[in-house]
Amino acid sequence: MAEKVKTTRRVLAEFSYDPAETERGYTGETLYVNVGDGTIESRPVTDTMKEQFIGGRGFGLYRLWYGVEDDTKWDDPENEIVISSGPCGGTTQYPGSGKSIVVSISPLTEIPVDSNVGGHFGPLLKFAGWDALEVQGKAEEDVIVIIDGPVGKVRIEEAPDVPVDSHLVGHWLIDELAETDEDRYYTSVVAAGTGAENSRFGCLNFSFYDRHREAPRFKQAGRGGIGTVFRDKRIKALVVRSEPVRGDSNAPADRKRISEIGSKLHREIYKYDDDQNQMRKGGTSYLVSIMNDYDLLPVHNFRYGKHPEAHKIDGDVWQAHFTQGIPDGCWYGCTMACSHAVDKYELRTGPYKGDQVIVDGPEYETIAGVGSCCGIFEPWAILEINFYCDTYGLDTISFGTGMAFVMECYEAGILDKEKTDGLELTFGNAEAAIEVLHQVARNEGFGKIFAQGSHRMKDIFVEEFGADRAFLEDIAMEAKGMEYSEYVTKESLAQQGGYGLTNKGPQHDEAWLIFMDQISNLLPTFEDKAEALHYFPMFRTWFGLCGFCKLPWNDVVPPDNAETDEPQKIPAHVSNYVALFAGVTGQDVTEDDLIEQSETAYNFQRVFNIRLGKGLREHDAIPYRSAGPVTVEEYESRVERYDKQLREILGLNPEGMTTEEKVGALREHREEQYEKLIDAVYARRGWTENGVPKPEKLERLGIDFPDVIAVVEKYL
Ligand code: SF4
Repeated sequence: MAEKVKTTRRVLAEFSYDPAETERGYTGETLYVNVGDGTIESRPVTDTMKEQFIGGRGFGLYRLWYGVEDDTKWDDPENEIVISSGPCGGTTQYPGSGKSIVVSISPLTEIPVDSNVGGHFGPLLKFAGWDALEVQGKAEEDVIVIIDGPVGKVRIEEAPDVPVDSHLVGHWLIDELAETDEDRYYTSVVAAGTGAENSRFGCLNFSFYDRHREAPRFKQAGRGGIGTVFRDKRIKALVVRSEPVRGDSNAPADRKRISEIGSKLHREIYKYDDDQNQMRKGGTSYLVSIMNDYDLLPVHNFRYGKHPEAHKIDGDVWQAHFTQGIPDGCWYGCTMACSHAVDKYELRTGPYKGDQVIVDGPEYETIAGVGSCCGIFEPWAILEINFYCDTYGLDTISFGTGMAFVMECYEAGILDKEKTDGLELTFGNAEAAIEVLHQVARNEGFGKIFAQGSHRMKDIFVEEFGADRAFLEDIAMEAKGMEYSEYVTKESLAQQGGYGLTNKGPQHDEAWLIFMDQISNLLPTFEDKAEALHYFPMFRTWFGLCGFCKLPWNDVVPPDNAETDEPQKIPAHVSNYVALFAGVTGQDVTEDDLIEQSETAYNFQRVFNIRLGKGLREHDAIPYRSAGPVTVEEYESRVERYDKQLREILGLNPEGMTTEEKVGALREHREEQYEKLIDAVYARRGWTENGVPKPEKLERLGIDFPDVIAVVEKYL
């Protein structure tokens, strides 16, 4: 391994340290870097942090809480970006154990956002001595931060010469910093891009070096605009280097136990993935045809749930595009290996037109968001948008859902060519959508408006273009300021809550209940739905505390899973996680303990939202498009289903009603149902009717700190 990461740049601040050894998943230290005033220091991980907040998202929320003020905005210097992998992150024996979780105040929602991402940065950060990295301040000039574990140095360097777009940063890392193969393997970079500079939905790219392609690859911390915060702080790259990763780098308490559980899951994946979801061949792209079959695929801004051309962008198509036979894991030991790529894709547009590039993905959310939701069924266009969103540092979900909203506004006459600088932004116009993407990166034209995200576009369209506010509130698929991810929820009340009752905004990583609710009818009562909206968000939150990827939990299942009492929980895999946590940390836990660990972080985040002004019942509202048909044509597209509901549930006779009357009657009913759902969920979660965690709940969870209680007391 090279003596140190090379540098030829002016060093603005430097800090020497003796890297702490990892012990049972923790190093016991977090790194604080202020890129504004040059402070770099080590901060101890306290018992409260380990016992109450576990790691990952928990550490991020804890550090952020004490880093900001009640009135801190996303672009204030004291806003932080905190990255942490959690105690199990860096395990190489169990698939999906290398995630990082990033936490910051979001430019979209203006409350904390957490984003779960693959790539090597988080685990290598730990092996360089740090359980978390906390970045604060705002630099005057562009900088990079280098954390060089093997030589025990952290530096802030000025970086006028470092590129901004992420695929260039990846190559820069290798050309400039890495001298040997090991430097490449055990160095990782976090970057954003020129799009992140100019928009509110910038993402972060986390690199991993692909030994088979001999090239840098990226995974995205997509949601909530953390890439925007990153560039606002004038950071071009965070770089970490560690000693070579070994099977015991995470120093688990019981490596044998972990290896045994890991071997079992490896065998399951090898044996059953081909018959189940074919993640190893096509990643999550298999979901396109399933969602289309069940009327759940977002089409034309979530108006519809299926499209006759969906087969043009389904899993088979992507399997043919993805290079097969390469172990595409985004962390060591992940035999699920779903991080596929399209190699040698020749770009057709933009500043890199003609270049042959690796496109990381697309995954389901990208295909559905920038594809079907926008009426785009051309694989080349999805690849083009996927690549440019990534390298510009833009979230593909916010881009796709936001673009679909714009396209509906265009078709409704709210926008026209004059307002879009000549772009005909109708559904299916891939060239126009791609041009807006480039405009965001160039900070010009209609792209400047689009870059504000759906929530703020509504204001612009009302104030500057005279649009009807009520209509926009119904059709803009955003809640709390963040765009929806890609599932149609009209027929699943539980999933309407799964999106609306999230802490960070509508993202499916908290709860995905559509099949349980809508297809299998396993949640017939409000209490059933509320229980599911307690258990699943808590269980899924736990992945983000510990550094796990959720996919190996339920994208392959044991063959006898259907015969278990609660097949939707995948009981055998839940047992694996209980044993893994114990095997890494040495703490014996039960399944209930995992849920309680999550409840602590989850309730703390809810109080954090309230502290920053957005965590009450009114903020859990959802756009009506996610609950039912807004327009006459939407109603007519499913007329049999809706008429039947009017007859059987509401006792109305649709025969004598106009479609507008039917839309109104259904709406009244569905909005009432959503309010009843909120009541049931708040009660189950131990919150007041206004959505405030009760002091006794906070006390039971051990987070009744005076400053936490002071926040909730204002609303009791
Ligand atoms: S399942 Fe896929 S996304 Fe998850 S860790 Fe493995 S390769 Fe990465």
